[in-house]
Amino acid sequence: MKKNSVVIVGSGLGGLLCGYILSKEGYEVIILEKNNQIGGCLQTFVRNNCVFDTGMHYIGSMDNGQPLNYLFKYFGLTQKLRLKRLDLNAFDIIDIADSKYAYPQGFNNFTETITKYFPSEHDAIKKYVNKLQEIGLSLTDLLENKVKPGTTGMARFGHFYENTYEYICSLTNNYRLQNVLAALNPLYAGDPKTAPLYLHGIINYSLIQSSWRLVDGGAQIANILTEEIKNNGGKILIKSEVKEFVPGADKSIHHVVLTDGEKIEGKYFISDINPSKTLELTNSELLRNIYKKRIHSIEQTISVFSLYIVLKKNEFQYMNYNYYRYNNQNVWGVQTYSPDTWPDGYMLYTPATSASQEYAENIIAITYMKYDEMLKWEHTTIEKRGNEYKMMKEQKANLFINQIEKQFPGIKSKIKAYYTSTPLTYRDYTGTPKGSVYGIKKDSNNPLSTFILPRTKIPNLLMTGQNINLHGVMGVTLGSLLTCGELIGFNYLLKKIHDAS
Ligand SMILES: Cc1cc2nc3c(=O)[nH]c(=O)nc-3n(C[C@H](O)[C@H](O)[C@H](O)COP(=O)(O)OP(=O)(O)OC[C@H]3O[C@@H](n4cnc5c(N)ncnc54)[C@H](O)[C@@H]3O)c2cc1C
Repeated sequence: MKKNSVVIVGSGLGGLLCGYILSKEGYEVIILEKNNQIGGCLQTFVRNNCVFDTGMHYIGSMDNGQPLNYLFKYFGLTQKLRLKRLDLNAFDIIDIADSKYAYPQGFNNFTETITKYFPSEHDAIKKYVNKLQEIGLSLTDLLENKVKPGTTGMARFGHFYENTYEYICSLTNNYRLQNVLAALNPLYAGDPKTAPLYLHGIINYSLIQSSWRLVDGGAQIANILTEEIKNNGGKILIKSEVKEFVPGADKSIHHVVLTDGEKIEGKYFISDINPSKTLELTNSELLRNIYKKRIHSIEQTISVFSLYIVLKKNEFQYMNYNYYRYNNQNVWGVQTYSPDTWPDGYMLYTPATSASQEYAENIIAITYMKYDEMLKWEHTTIEKRGNEYKMMKEQKANLFINQIEKQFPGIKSKIKAYYTSTPLTYRDYTGTPKGSVYGIKKDSNNPLSTFILPRTKIPNLLMTGQNINLHGVMGVTLGSLLTCGELIGFNYLLKKIHDAS
């Protein structure tokens, strides 16, 4: 039996960031990862010499002085990451039923550009941008420790009782503008009935501040953190799936058990996996049924179907922006697709690679897919799902490619090969229930019910990752500070980050 001071379950971004912070602080850290590859959603895979990201496409706020740049200095990432800035005047192109709108970087630029499309709506647009900046300020306040004493978790961001859809509708009666302002809702799997404004606000604020692609894929984040954790004496074990958190005589967690039976002891345990899954693996009297019931009943965000296209050499221009397509005027409607019209919309981009600048080597396109469509194969595992599943994937890929061909005529003839992933792929690679794209669904109607604190009732079991606070690189990074703050002191950690800047 090995003895460690901190055992972290899951090597997603949250697990790695916690591993980095704590190993730097002298804790003996061991990270246990069920897969062959570290990184969770940061994992990449290679086909036909092309690197494909599975869950990381672009990040925001990485310019000098901006929040992620500031935070990533502490993690040694700002200095090492290879980034490509997206087009200043169009980091995203929104195509709503064939009308196209550019999202530019910079708040003034954004206000002016969107006003050009809607000249009589300047005041509403300005008000919207001011609101994003106000929400964005809560990030800076958090990092400068200016939040009200006593506020914890995501409450530090405020605006979590406000609903995004209602807020945007309150700004203007112009239906088209309402939809343009809400067009990045796939970045939080937005449901108009539940999407909290802080979620929309932080994500849009961060990307409008500045938008960047990770050259050759998001795995570079995982690789840099892994190297640093190892330099600090930490260990990362792959192919090490945790099947149980076992309490000791004092009811705290004493050790975890891996699927091969190995036991690993620790003083503290941090779970970077979905909270519902964490509870399934934890049999402790300290976790009250009411807490378990609440966590298990939280709805998960919808899943996705991804298309990974290898392009013929030098045939398709690299696009230094992301493309969001909506077949209908209502950008909130894509999730509730009917199988007859699927896909009703999608996001597509050409990854940035160090090898090619002018032409794209590959394309990643993503659209929503409900887990219910997978029920027939739900008890199968990777590579063993049978022919019918393969045929279903092929049929979906054809529908998706035919849809893309309508917006990019001729693209079909430029495809050398393609690969796909379904909600089952996401479920089995990241361990999220039903292949949920961003973990639990936050609800503005009842935010406290979807509010998960890093501390649990088991004194030495903490949680981290996308479900704790916010998903995405920014959200998970903030979440890792909240989690580790519980062990080493939040103010102390903020000071360390400040000193590193
Ligand atoms: C399709 C997609 C696109 C995205 N695009 C972006 C984007 O452009 N920008 C952005 O900022 N964010 C994006 N995100 C979100 C972002 O990737 C995630 O929020 C973040 O990486 C999640 O990190 P995490 O640490 O919470 O968990 P995860 O990445 O889910 O990691 C959890 C890890 O735990 C492991 N694990 C699970 N169970 C066990 C077990 N029992 N024992 C051991 N290990 C276990 C898993 O294998 C996995 O490695 C995207 C996500 C997806 C799915």
